[in-house]
Amino acid sequence: AVLVGGGAVGNGFLRALRHLQVRGTLPIVDPKVVGEGNPNRCLYFTSDHVGLPKAATLARSAQPDFPELKLEPYACTFGELVAKTGLVDTAIVTVDSRRARRSLQKEIPRRVIDASTTDARAVIVHSHSQPTDDACLACIYRHVPDEHARERSIAEGLGIDIEMVREGFISADAAGRIAKAHPSVEAKAIAGKAYDTLFKELCSAQALLTPEGRQVLAPFAFVSALAGVLLVVELLRSNHHAATTNYWTVDPWGAPIGRLRRLRPRVPDCEFCADDDASRLAQSLWEEAR
Ligand SMILES: [Zn+2]
Repeated sequence: AVLVGGGAVGNGFLRALRHLQVRGTLPIVDPKVVGEGNPNRCLYFTSDHVGLPKAATLARSAQPDFPELKLEPYACTFGELVAKTGLVDTAIVTVDSRRARRSLQKEIPRRVIDASTTDARAVIVHSHSQPTDDACLACIYRHVPDEHARERSIAEGLGIDIEMVREGFISADAAGRIAKAHPSVEAKAIAGKAYDTLFKELCSAQALLTPEGRQVLAPFAFVSALAGVLLVVELLRSNHHAATTNYWTVDPWGAPIGRLRRLRPRVPDCEFCADDDASRLAQSLWEEAR
């Protein structure tokens, strides 16, 4: 197996996995470095790790919890790892975007165990084994217009138009409007800043209320940790051939509802499944493994 992504969910996965007796080698791939916003929800990272490669830092910090499992870091993408070492049997997927998941599917791992978070609102769990007639990772995370959800939630949280957010940096005009909607903010202090930076600052200071008075939520540590735990559970379900469904959405603020587990079908316009060559290849590569 390969752990894809050394961010908050990847950290949570290892934090939960240490309670099992696991042996062998687990490569961790992540091309990125630890950012300033990471240590608050990455259970193995501290502020001393900011600027260091995520994969190597996670491998080093988590290794003492795994006496019989060797964690092997790779500072590259999953595609680059596959190009170097060949096909991967099991991809444990914790990357942070829909697009990254779709391109990962094209590397045709035999089995995918995946968990993602939708800010603080939901944890989504997916798994499948090839060959399958049901949904693949690219079916579950197919391209949808909603990929601009982050821009929209920034616009909504700050009380401005989404077009302003797309400019990247806060104009004097936008600064005025933000200050009007949020009395604690001074227009002069925020003009010229990146929207992402201001949004994160205000979220972590819990200063953001939407016009309806609803708190805008930064990603919480517990949501990513929950996704990591559910990833371990899904891995066990799959190992024991108990994964008869391939999709589960869990509200992190309530009890998990088992009845919401679903078996999702292929989507007709899936980037992977609708490509006949790709699905034939998956079939021939993994038919025997079944
Ligand atoms: Zn598909």
